[in-house]
Amino acid sequence: MRFGVMHRNTFLDAPRLITPTLAWRAHPHIHFAGQLSGTEGYTEAIASGLVAALAVYAQINGQNLTELPAHSLFGALLAYASDPATQPYQPMHVNYGLLEPLAEPLRNRKRRYQQYAARADQAIRTYRESNPELDWLPEVDRSFLLTDDRGADQPNEILAGETSAEEVSTAETNADSVSAAETNAEAL
Ligand SMILES: Cc1cc2nc3c(=O)[nH]c(=O)nc-3n(C[C@H](O)[C@H](O)[C@H](O)COP(=O)(O)OP(=O)(O)OC[C@H]3O[C@@H](n4cnc5c(N)ncnc54)[C@H](O)[C@@H]3O)c2cc1C
Repeated sequence: MRFGVMHRNTFLDAPRLITPTLAWRAHPHIHFAGQLSGTEGYTEAIASGLVAALAVYAQINGQNLTELPAHSLFGALLAYASDPATQPYQPMHVNYGLLEPLAEPLRNRKRRYQQYAARADQAIRTYRESNPELDWLPEVDRSFLLTDDRGADQPNEILAGETSAEEVSTAETNADSVSAAETNAEAL
């Protein structure tokens, strides 16, 4: 058990104690979520609760939940937080720094975020196809697996060219606010 530097919160040493599906390594039938599990943030707490619930649901049905794809933001955070090579560890928000760089670097930040979103969207679609048991989840909940709570709201539609220029502009404003949120997070 550790105490956070900034918020004085209490959290587990996730890289050494927790798997990418939030099970306690020593007792895999026990799962953790929220701040205690070593993730940080309001939406991260919700997303980790969802992943822990999915993992328990899978276990009850005699299956193992596959870890989220690392190209999704929350999957990247869980991969980082549960990697024994991560040392020392402090609870962390999702952030673009955790993602593997794009195959072709993009200098334009908005386009870069859109490409991250498209890649995550594809990774989650593949994940869902290879885990058909997840289809009992309502669509609204699955959207948590797609993108960051502070990012572009409808990456699929934007990238599929199904939205108006006005909507794309709104999404780009959201991408700007991602940057502001990152700056705020750094300031915290
Ligand atoms: C000052 C501050 C500012 C923050 N700002 C932001 C922000 O701007 N954006 C953001 O995304 N995140 C922010 N966070 C982080 C965010 O608040 C947490 O990551 C998130 O609330 C964690 O949710 P949780 O449900 O895991 O834990 P908590 O919200 O801490 O909930 C745990 C609950 O369990 C209860 N509890 C504890 N022990 C027991 C017990 N033995 N029996 C019964 N109940 C118990 C507690 O009373 C509490 O109600 C901030 C945190 C702090 C401290």
